[in-house]
Amino acid sequence: MLSRRRANPLSERALARLTTDWHRLNEPFTHNDFVGASDGPCWMVVRGSRPIVCSAPHAVHHARHGAVKLNDAHTGGLALALATHLGGSAVALRRGGLEFGDPNHDAEHPLKEAAAPLVGPGVAFLDLHGMADRDHDVIVGIGATPTRRSFRLAELFVNAAVRHGIDATVADEGTGFNANGPTTMTMWALGRGADALQFEIAHNLRTVHAERDRKVALLRAFTETFSG
Ligand SMILES: [Zn+2]
Repeated sequence: MLSRRRANPLSERALARLTTDWHRLNEPFTHNDFVGASDGPCWMVVRGSRPIVCSAPHAVHHARHGAVKLNDAHTGGLALALATHLGGSAVALRRGGLEFGDPNHDAEHPLKEAAAPLVGPGVAFLDLHGMADRDHDVIVGIGATPTRRSFRLAELFVNAAVRHGIDATVADEGTGFNANGPTTMTMWALGRGADALQFEIAHNLRTVHAERDRKVALLRAFTETFSG
């Protein structure tokens, strides 16, 4: 018998809308040469009804040790679009530059504070990042203290992605990107009891010029794993 996930994939029309929304919703993060908004809080929280939080802590340029680090392009729009389609919440860094640090590196950060009420037991926390192109398309970091469910979700996602032609893997010593650092968003969310995963997505899958079929395959893997 087909599982519910396989029996109810997102329709082609819904996937097309999700692909369009991804880049449309990313627009605010491109302001001021990718530093984002020039006023207001550095964080953005959009509340949904299902226990899923899509996170983009590097949606805009940010700072570590007083040096600016480039944004993970198009992860802000991806978090907002996925959250909308999954009925979950989105959190993102909407204003960056030198002033607002790095939520994935700073033990305490206003984005973590703002997201905290949404992050706890039973919540799937998807922390979205971008990496340069390499052997794998997506590396899923499970942190140093994965829950049983987060480990299972990582495997389900990787299987779904591979089935759709995306070269995904769970992070290991060879791949890096394990999200083990004590201050990563993933470890922070695991510490709050959530089932947290870090997704490092290769550049070629995220750009506006990426092949549409490849983007749809990635979105299919996310929606198949986290819709049920
Ligand atoms: Zn990142």
